[in-house]
Amino acid sequence: MYDVIVVGARCGGAPLAMLLARDGHKVLLVDRMAIGTDIMSTHFVKRTGASLLDKWGLLNSVRDAGTPAISELHFNIDDIKLSGQAPACDGVGEDFTPRRTVLDPILVEAAASAGVEVRDQFTVRSLIFDEGRVAGIRGSGKNGIETAERAKVVVGADGIRSSVAKSVGAEIYVDGGSHTCGYYAYYSGIRDKDHAASLNIRTGDRRFYITFPTNDGLDMLFLFWPAEEASSVRKDLDGAFSNSLKLVPELDARIRTGTRETRITGSHLLPNFFRRAHGPGWALVGDAALHRDPITAQGITNAFTHAAILAEELSAGLKGDKPIDRALADYDRRQFEKLKPMFDYTVHLSMLQPLPGEVEQGLPLIRGNEDAIGAFIGAFLGSVPLDQVFSPQLLARFAADVERGTPELRHVA
Ligand SMILES: Cc1cc2nc3c(=O)[nH]c(=O)nc-3n(C[C@H](O)[C@H](O)[C@H](O)COP(=O)(O)OP(=O)(O)OC[C@H]3O[C@@H](n4cnc5c(N)ncnc54)[C@H](O)[C@@H]3O)c2cc1C
Repeated sequence: MYDVIVVGARCGGAPLAMLLARDGHKVLLVDRMAIGTDIMSTHFVKRTGASLLDKWGLLNSVRDAGTPAISELHFNIDDIKLSGQAPACDGVGEDFTPRRTVLDPILVEAAASAGVEVRDQFTVRSLIFDEGRVAGIRGSGKNGIETAERAKVVVGADGIRSSVAKSVGAEIYVDGGSHTCGYYAYYSGIRDKDHAASLNIRTGDRRFYITFPTNDGLDMLFLFWPAEEASSVRKDLDGAFSNSLKLVPELDARIRTGTRETRITGSHLLPNFFRRAHGPGWALVGDAALHRDPITAQGITNAFTHAAILAEELSAGLKGDKPIDRALADYDRRQFEKLKPMFDYTVHLSMLQPLPGEVEQGLPLIRGNEDAIGAFIGAFLGSVPLDQVFSPQLLARFAADVERGTPELRHVA
C-alpha cells in the first residue's frame, strides 16, 4: 500500500513524487517509457520554472550537464526589435534549455534519491476503484505480467492523452481551441553571438519563430503556422521551413550558415484546455490537467507549478491536517487561479492575430527604455505579472479569446 502512486515520470510526475517522498510519504512512480527517452517537446525552461528547480536543489545538475543559461532575449515583432533582460524570479535571472533527455532523468534520479520507488517501462492499463474512489492501478512491466498496486491517491501525470483522466471521466471545462501547428529541428553552427534566445513574430504573415541554444552545441529552431495551414505545411515541411524563413532575412541568413542535424518534427494538434484535475482519490498534473500551445513555452513550468502545489496540499491531506478530498480540491482551485492568466495570454498569442492596437502603439515607445523592455519580456517569461504590463482591458480581451472557444467556463468547485 502506497500513500501515492504517480503515473508518468517526467516534468509533472517526477518532481511531485520527489517532493512527497522528501516529506516522508511512500510513493510509487511509474512510466511506460524507459527513463531518458526523448519526447516530442522543445525545452525552454523559463526562469519561473528554473526557480523551482533551484528551490528543489536541481538547477546545478541542469547547469552541470552543459545546458546553456540564457539571460538575453531578442523579441522581434515585425520591424520592431526589442532586446533585453527580464527581471529575475526568486533570484534566478536566467532561463535554461535542457534537452528532455537531460532534464527528465535529473528529475527521476532526484525522485529515486528521495526514496521514491521508480518503475519504468511499466504501463498502467486500468485503475482500481473502491466504492467510487480511485484506490490503485493495474498494469504490467516488461515481463507482461499484470500486477495491481494500491494507494490512498493516484495521480495522472501521464500527458495530454492521459488515460487516468479518461478512466475517471475528467472533463475539459475550459476549451480554448487549437490554433497553430508547430514544427522544430536542431542545427549546428548557427549560435547567436550573445547566446540569446529569440522570438520573431510576423503579424501580417501569421508566422512565429523561436530559436535558442541547447546542449551539445546545437540550437533549436521552432516555427508556428496557423492551424488552417497545417495540411499544406505537413505535406512539405522542408518547403514550409524555407519559405517561412525567407520572411525574416536575418534569421534566414543565420540558419543558412549552419547545418540541420535532425529531421523536422512537431505537431498539428496543440489544443488549449483545462481539465478537471481532482476527484475522489485522484488528481491530474502537467499536460493531463492543463494543455496549452507551446508558443509561450509554458508547459514545463506549469507542470513544475502543479507538482509544487499538489505536493503541498497532498502532504497536508496525508498528514491529516485537512481532509484529503479537500486538499485535492484546493490544489485544483489554486493551480487554476495561478495559471489561468498565462493560459489566456498563450491562447491569444497562438491565434497569430494582428497586435492589439495598444500594444502596436506602445511598442515603438518603449524602444531604448531598458526597464520597459525588461518588463515586456518578463511578462512573456512569467517573472513580471501580466497585469503590470498589460491594461485590464487587454487582459480581458485575452480571456475573451478563450471564452469564445469555451462552451461553459467555470471554476472547479
Ligand atoms: C512541440 C512541443 C514543444 C514544446 N516546447 C516546450 C518548451 O519549449 N517549453 C515548455 O515549457 N514546454 C514545452 N512543451 C510542453 C511540454 O512538453 C509539456 O508541457 C510537458 O512535457 C508536460 O509534462 P508532463 O510530465 O505533464 O507530461 P509528459 O512530458 O507528456 O509525460 C507523460 C509521461 O506519462 C507516461 N505515460 C502515459 N501514459 C502512461 C501509462 N498508461 N502508463 C505509464 N506511463 C504513462 C508517458 O510515457 C510520459 O513519459 C512543448 C510541447 C510540444 C508538443
